[in-house]
Amino acid sequence: MCATEGQDLTTYDVVVVGGGAAGLSGALMLGRARRSVLVIDAGEPRNAPASAVHGFLTRDGTNPGELLEAGRAEARGYGARVIYGRVASAVAVEGGFTVDLEDGSRVGARRLLVATGLVDELPDVPGVRERWGRDVLHCPYCHGWEVRDRAIGVLAGGPLSVHQALMFRQLSADVMFFSHTMPPPTGEQAEQLAARGIRVVDGEVASLEVVEDRLVGVRLGDGRVVGREALAVSPRMSARAGFLAALGLRPEEHPAGVGEYIPSEATGHTDVPGVWVAGNVTDLVAHVGAAAAAGAAAAAQINADLVAEDTERAVSAYRARREARTAGRR
Ligand SMILES: Cc1cc2nc3c(=O)[nH]c(=O)nc-3n(C[C@H](O)[C@H](O)[C@H](O)COP(=O)(O)OP(=O)(O)OC[C@H]3O[C@@H](n4cnc5c(N)ncnc54)[C@H](O)[C@@H]3O)c2cc1C
Repeated sequence: MCATEGQDLTTYDVVVVGGGAAGLSGALMLGRARRSVLVIDAGEPRNAPASAVHGFLTRDGTNPGELLEAGRAEARGYGARVIYGRVASAVAVEGGFTVDLEDGSRVGARRLLVATGLVDELPDVPGVRERWGRDVLHCPYCHGWEVRDRAIGVLAGGPLSVHQALMFRQLSADVMFFSHTMPPPTGEQAEQLAARGIRVVDGEVASLEVVEDRLVGVRLGDGRVVGREALAVSPRMSARAGFLAALGLRPEEHPAGVGEYIPSEATGHTDVPGVWVAGNVTDLVAHVGAAAAAGAAAAAQINADLVAEDTERAVSAYRARREARTAGRR
């Protein structure tokens, strides 16, 4: 499971770009399959602002940094190299890829697993960025239990905002919908909110009110302050994939209108031979468990692909030897 060195370029069976749940899970599987693996990670996992990972079986409540530290240790235990760095670009070459890092270094890879996650584009409201992952939230499964029965606001900002309000209503009877810069809901959506007792507050939200490091309210443009203890927002989600452009892989608009992602087959394989994707870079709504599962599944596919290639090479060499022996006997 050694990486090969040639012409000053160390080449790995697989270079994993991104060392979050998806990338490390892939590296663990590939290491256990005795593949040489390099994980290059820029160290900015999406859930870094949160104090705990919730809903991940057996690790519910674990600090996100501690979870990844344990993941790195497990992957390293099977020989994977995990380094800090940021990939600037990757290009296809004979037999694989060369991967350039921002620090100027370069490595080779027979296959690529891209697990670089996404960027949450937060609404431009003063206070939102500072409170993100604490009392400014997005996901009822990640943080909903923690704000159950509290005064929750939902800041409209995307096609799924009404759905989000209905989801948070499952967790608290006190939910308000701030239409903010969107038109107030009408028709069936207005009826749904009214039926579930969710008050709609018109008008742009100007800022958040924070006292002693806690959200206490939402200030509207006209100066009114509405008391709230948590605010759900709908960031636009953009796959972190700029470095893939030279490979011809570009993010596409998601059909749900919630952001941009790298499309792939169910196995994680992309349109570019030899390149797999896993986690939030391709599945914008994947939680930690789903991201880890996708990384493991993609790794299994990559290993099978390499086994097929190794076998094909071995068969060619075997035939050549056999033909040479036969020719020698003649
Ligand atoms: C505030 C918040 C709280 C959340 N809480 C929960 C929760 O409680 N439970 C849950 O299941 N999910 C939660 N999530 C969702 C969770 O963050 C994602 O499911 C998970 O991070 C996806 O894993 P990933 O490996 O796809 O991406 P990430 O965890 O984002 O990891 C991607 C890694 O790739 C690196 N990277 C990016 N570009 C490059 C590059 N060019 N070169 C090298 N490295 C690069 C990044 O720095 C990062 O370390 C939360 C999300 C947010 C925003």
